[in-house]
Amino acid sequence: EAKRTGRNRVFSYEEGMLEKVAARHQLETDLKTALENHEFRLVYQPIRDLRSERTVGFEALIRWHHPTRGLVSPADFIPLAEELGCIVAIGGWVLAEACREAATWQDGMYVAVNVSAVQFRTPLLFAHVTQALAESGLPAHRLEVELTETAIVSHGTHVAQTLEALRALGIKVAMDDFGTGYSSLAHLRDLPLDRIKIDRSFVATAATDNSSMAVLRAVTQLGRDIGIATLGEGVETVEQMRLLKSLGCDAAQGYLIGKPGAVEPASSDLSADGAFAAKAAR
Ligand code: C2E
Ligand code: MG
Ligand code: MG
Ligand code: MG
Repeated sequence: EAKRTGRNRVFSYEEGMLEKVAARHQLETDLKTALENHEFRLVYQPIRDLRSERTVGFEALIRWHHPTRGLVSPADFIPLAEELGCIVAIGGWVLAEACREAATWQDGMYVAVNVSAVQFRTPLLFAHVTQALAESGLPAHRLEVELTETAIVSHGTHVAQTLEALRALGIKVAMDDFGTGYSSLAHLRDLPLDRIKIDRSFVATAATDNSSMAVLRAVTQLGRDIGIATLGEGVETVEQMRLLKSLGCDAAQGYLIGKPGAVEPASSDLSADGAFAAKAAR
């Protein structure tokens, strides 16, 4: 079979390659103008405190509404935006937009914003954070930036100082997707962090995989001991939520609690638990 179609297959493979290169090139071109064309939106996913069982904040997640392709997932364009360098401008917009939105929320609600490794390495990040806070009037303690382990660890020797400098602005710093990069428990001990977000792969497999359970237990225990809040990501079942609570994890996020969507306006319209409801609008 391979012999018979071999030539054609090589040929069509190359054709496919060309198409892919062209498609990628088009996506690059489109990405460069997406910001000025107002094609980005933010959706917000609720973060629940496991002790009070209330919504205490929301994570802002970017969506690209492409004029012809429709909704493009951040997983598909963030890496490209990082390569092209336009992630710095996009990230600046995300910070400004998220702070403006959060300033309209009920007192105390915080907004978590994802910051890419590329953004983290540029001094512009400080300018963007300062400007977003000043323009929105959002109190600094209600803004949290999320950095992945890889972003933090690959930053080099001055990571702790950079994180301290961010915290000196009064904002909070979280390590995102813990367990998927090259970090270690020693990093958690040494870095000035406010929160550890444990990757959803551990939450998803804890019930069936002993090593996932061991990581959940170790990280929540360590967080308690050194005073860093812990959050379990990707909670989809009641069992997973109960498990996190029983391990003493501080907070949780996931489809069970709420999908990323629009945040209901503050005023009179409180949901049953007195907190905000995020309307699923993916
Ligand atoms: P993340 O920061 O870890 O965000 C959590 C992702 O998990 C989101 O995907 C969210 O929709 C999804 N998720 C939440 N709960 C569940 C659940 O219960 N089950 C499952 N299967 N998934 C769940 P999303 O919105 O597609 O974002 C993917 C990643 O893209 C984010 O991962 C983040 O790394 C990046 N990202 C999103 N928005 C931004 C942004 O504004 N700036 C930057 N630099 N990166 C962003
Ligand atoms: Mg995140
Ligand atoms: Mg995450
Ligand atoms: Mg993630």
